[in-house]
Amino acid sequence: MINFPGVFGHENAKERLLSAYQKDRIPSAYLFIGENGIGKSTLVKAFAQLINCETNDYCRQCPNCRLYDSGSHPDFKIVKPDGQFIKISQVHDLINLLSLKPAYAKKRIILVKDANRLNQEAANSFLKILEEPPLNTLIILMTLDETLLLETILSRCQKIQFAPLTKNNLKRILDKDYSINEEEIELVLNYSKGIVRKDFIANSAVLYTMRIQVFKILTGLSDESMATHFNLVDHWIKKELHNYFFEFCAHWIKDFCYFKDQQLELVTNRDLMGELKAMNLNYTKEQLLWAFNLTIETEMAVRLNAGKALAIESLLIQLKQVFAGALVI
Ligand SMILES: [Zn+2]
Repeated sequence: MINFPGVFGHENAKERLLSAYQKDRIPSAYLFIGENGIGKSTLVKAFAQLINCETNDYCRQCPNCRLYDSGSHPDFKIVKPDGQFIKISQVHDLINLLSLKPAYAKKRIILVKDANRLNQEAANSFLKILEEPPLNTLIILMTLDETLLLETILSRCQKIQFAPLTKNNLKRILDKDYSINEEEIELVLNYSKGIVRKDFIANSAVLYTMRIQVFKILTGLSDESMATHFNLVDHWIKKELHNYFFEFCAHWIKDFCYFKDQQLELVTNRDLMGELKAMNLNYTKEQLLWAFNLTIETEMAVRLNAGKALAIESLLIQLKQVFAGALVI
């Protein structure tokens, strides 16, 4: 059976695409609905190659396969937001392109990423393309949330829903595409929730250390001075890693809670379960709830432009104090 090389999981989507291809009933437009980072674009590229391969079997030898493998096929066009939105000028460029015949391919593929970010004008113009679908063209729109698209656009697309990747499939992607060690793979898997988080993977070695630093500071295991902690905070801000600080704090606090309630299957930092057990932590529900809320509030404040260093340092002092039982709440 034909498979889609490099695409892990998404069996339902693969079956539907393959069936349409084999019956020669590929619609003029699909809408792929699902999170970013789960392999939707990879599947589109594999499908485009299957449709256009001159032997119909990913021969990797024919001119079309070679162009796809090199990532430079002129009849594969990606449209994505320029800034916050996909603009009318981008849709006009697309209309111009579609007025020309494909250069090599049997079928030209247009991939529109974040289709919910077509601005009003662009969406209306794009609708005209869908109303009179150009010959030899397949349009694939992608979105996180279909309710953000115009009903008139939705009604002209066949919808395919995508679920996050299983841990097993995510691991296969990490093993194949990224060279990170086993410990870091475990960290990435535990913090990914079925999505390939490229930013997290790119920083996995630093984040591995950072997560343990955060654990030691929160639990009082670290005997370094507050000044040293503050230097660390400055370093994280400088390297734009401070958002991970909030993420790690929130997950550690939740884990302390799951540990307390013996809901071990919900623990995120599963690889450090032994360390957690050895600490014999006994925080109260009030301490945990207070700490969690403060973390989320500080993260929001920083997002809304509060001074980063001061906000994070203040959070750190208060978390340290509450977990040491030195802060009355
Ligand atoms: Zn081929």
